[in-house]
Amino acid sequence: MAKEPILSTMKAIQLIRPGEWPELREVPIPSPSSGQILLKITAAGLCHSDIAVMEHYAAAMNYKLPQTLGHECAGTVVDAGDGVRHLVTLGEEVLVYGPWGCGRCRQCAEGYENYCYNAAARGIVPPGLGRDGGAAEYMLVDRARYLVPLDGLDPIKAVPLTDAALTPYHALQHSRHKLDANSYAVVFGVGGLGHIAIQLIKHLTPARVIALDVSQKHLDLATTVGADYALKSDPEAVAAVKDLTHGQGAEVVFDFAGVQASIDLGAQMTKVRGDWNIVGIGGGRATVGFGVVPYECNVFSPYWGTRGELYDVVALARRGVFELHVEEYPLDEGENVYKRLHAGEVLGRAVLKP
Ligand code: NAD
Ligand code: ZN
Repeated sequence: MAKEPILSTMKAIQLIRPGEWPELREVPIPSPSSGQILLKITAAGLCHSDIAVMEHYAAAMNYKLPQTLGHECAGTVVDAGDGVRHLVTLGEEVLVYGPWGCGRCRQCAEGYENYCYNAAARGIVPPGLGRDGGAAEYMLVDRARYLVPLDGLDPIKAVPLTDAALTPYHALQHSRHKLDANSYAVVFGVGGLGHIAIQLIKHLTPARVIALDVSQKHLDLATTVGADYALKSDPEAVAAVKDLTHGQGAEVVFDFAGVQASIDLGAQMTKVRGDWNIVGIGGGRATVGFGVVPYECNVFSPYWGTRGELYDVVALARRGVFELHVEEYPLDEGENVYKRLHAGEVLGRAVLKP
């Protein structure tokens, strides 16, 4: 396929100063160096982690600003640098695997690039989380292996697979064996991640799902996507979960809020020998100690997922296993959509279409 002509500037949603809302800016289109691939972005999902980036991480991690946000990216291959042209096809439709690693350490060798030993020391960061991401018309990708074929899926519907589905799928892998027909899974936060987590648990295990959220419209979404119970996330929910679980608590708790309020409740809802997955980056802290958490309770803080797991969730999506709730907006609306996300108004995942 012939290269399509590329203009010299593009629109991008950029964080300019920590603690402020991002802005729509006109910036140069990057050109791929040796080994890099240029994507024309077809969809960019907005994650609540971007709010944490604006509020804390950009400053704490010393991000070079301005920086284009967006770590859930889908696009079309439009150009490639030396050394990589034989590995990609112009016009190829792809999803971008986000947690980049060195590719050489033991974690990467096992597929756990999300836990690469060398990434931090070598300045290898995900797009949109320390370097320019996908909330733009074009984006650079550093390695061909980060491009996962879209396989005929609609990019707008599929882009949440790269994080909102991949992250709960990864968390479910280490807890799945505890979710049998007599088990319960508690899901805190029925947002972008949580509404997909409910569907993954229901599809991949016979366990019953108890969803908790602070907002009624998110609880309604939980019921729509298959939760067996939907409860207001407040202190009274502890007794309600205990009642449902024969006084014992849930085998597995997934917290997709990670705020102090949900963490305080999650500690009381996990069963003896249960798993407590704190996925949300809401700034809450868990207190762990003898007599503080249930006996032999495992506490996990999972981060994103592996490249192999992204192939898995794409395969599940192709089979129609998920009902991904997506709100679609033009790229120009980025700043306002982030404000909606911060205010808890987004239902499912908000996706920008350049
Ligand atoms: P979202 O804004 O789409 O959803 C968050 C949901 O949590 C909302 O429905 C909100 O009403 C609900 N909520 C808020 N407080 C609550 C409480 N006390 N109890 C129960 N529910 C509550 O966010 P998202 O994009 O789905 O992300 C969820 C969290 O996961 C964020 O903190 C995000 O930063 C984090 N995250 C972590 C990883 C990881 O790898 N660990 C990856 C992606 C996102
Ligand atoms: Zn994210």
